[in-house]
Amino acid sequence: MFCRNCNSKINNTFLDLGHAPPSNAYLSKNDLLKVERYFPLKVGVCKNCWLVQTEDFIAADNLFTKDYAYLSSASETWLKHCKNFVDYSISEFNLHSKSLVLEVASNDGYLLQYFKFKDIPCLGIEPTEYTANIAKGKGLNIINEFLTRKLAKEISLSKGKADLIIGNNVYAHVPDIKDFTHSLKVLIKENGVISLEFPHLMNLISGKQFDTVYHEHFSYLSFTTVVSIFKDAGLRIFNVQELDTHGGSLRIFGCLKDSIHKENISVKRMLDKELIFGITNIKTYDSFQEQAELIKNNLLGLLIKLKKENKVVMAYGAAAKGNTLLNFAGIKSDLIRFVFDNATSKQNKYLPGSHIKILNPSEIKRSNPDYLLILPWNISNEIIESLSKFKESGMKFIIAVPNIKII
Ligand SMILES: [Zn+2]
Repeated sequence: MFCRNCNSKINNTFLDLGHAPPSNAYLSKNDLLKVERYFPLKVGVCKNCWLVQTEDFIAADNLFTKDYAYLSSASETWLKHCKNFVDYSISEFNLHSKSLVLEVASNDGYLLQYFKFKDIPCLGIEPTEYTANIAKGKGLNIINEFLTRKLAKEISLSKGKADLIIGNNVYAHVPDIKDFTHSLKVLIKENGVISLEFPHLMNLISGKQFDTVYHEHFSYLSFTTVVSIFKDAGLRIFNVQELDTHGGSLRIFGCLKDSIHKENISVKRMLDKELIFGITNIKTYDSFQEQAELIKNNLLGLLIKLKKENKVVMAYGAAAKGNTLLNFAGIKSDLIRFVFDNATSKQNKYLPGSHIKILNPSEIKRSNPDYLLILPWNISNEIIESLSKFKESGMKFIIAVPNIKII
């Protein structure tokens, strides 16, 4: 395997989760009668540029298919986060009715809608047809394609360059991170700003978040590595913020190398923080596999114990990270009867691999589980709060990552 960024040979394994189906490949009842495709799910570390990356087995267009079911608008916490960002960026970067905001992976328009409300011209790029159509239904302009350098050139000629380019949770999802970064360079105005949010590798390691590893996630990014990828593309990062989203993310602000933006002290601070943490020391990556296996074994032990006690366990949140955990642990519907999820696009389908049926949360009362395993632990507070009436009547919640917890 060769590094996607610097082409160095990678000969180590950071994490090996065996074989798994793509995390967002939800199945219909009919699909259950067909062969399901499994791919190796293995992650290595480049000792030259420290890009942590999955081995490339599946092309991206096989992952982000036209019925890709992930809808960003499904989480209230996330919507609030995005609205705050829109307000912040309008005042921070002086955006107005003559500006252009461009979002890559605009999904169902969860973010651009807030720019539209403020009459700031915006354009989304979204490869999955299903989500792109929802965004179009909100009156947003969407280009239904993957961002490539070629598309970037076409857009900059036909629509002009952008004052602000946003990419939330897309940078880690692009297979060719170099080409993607060059595309951003093609699209940005002389003093424009690129804002990217991605889960921080440092939190993944310290929080044992092995379940955030899935095929759609090609890269696991440190600030150190992103700084060097930007530099190679003729860009630079002038500010970085730490966010609580997705178990701990970074928001970076980048610009063209010679642009007017002054470098904030946060840039040097974050580089120092990662150096002290050991991002550029291979020993930091050594014990991750062991930690993932311990979490898996603890969860399995608990589920088997509860089964023997005749307790009924179900799950909440049909998120990608849940599928990684369930498939790595080999959990099926004998241990977890159903999973509940608010997204209507997922309801009455089945989780890939585990084949656990997804139901509307309105069915929780009738199903009456003793325990509910919360799969998207990053929004567990929001979920527990919304289900507080069940908690009062005795239902317990289980969280598996970073350590087994019963609430
Ligand atoms: Zn590399």
